[in-house]
Amino acid sequence: MTKCDKFLIILVLIVSIISIIIIGKATSNYDTTYAEIYVDGNLYKKYSLDKNLNEVVTIETKHGKNIIEIEGYNVRMIESSCINKLCIKQGTIHKQGQLIVCLPNKVVVQIIGKNSSSDLDTISY
Ligand SMILES: [Zn+2]
Repeated sequence: MTKCDKFLIILVLIVSIISIIIIGKATSNYDTTYAEIYVDGNLYKKYSLDKNLNEVVTIETKHGKNIIEIEGYNVRMIESSCINKLCIKQGTIHKQGQLIVCLPNKVVVQIIGKNSSSDLDTISY
């Protein structure tokens, strides 16, 4: 192995380590993720998702009843009075941008990401 070969190997290693760091940062772009629960188009409750979080949210409206379970970063509809139960079939959501919709009961649960360095106006009421 020549000196030049060693240099190339080290260079490739450095480049791959840097790209892993960059990719890692790009995928964990959000410092915090939130679960927002909307009823009738209005924000009903907001949870800052945490690995220790364990919440069961019962929503009772004139449209019906929904029970949402938040376990760590996972959110799912465990019970619903709606006919088609599509919201329950949507399963567990955990990624930013995912949502569960219960159309008959007008309940929407969505996961949003929040970067602490950017605008905080939407989380401070
Ligand atoms: Zn439903």
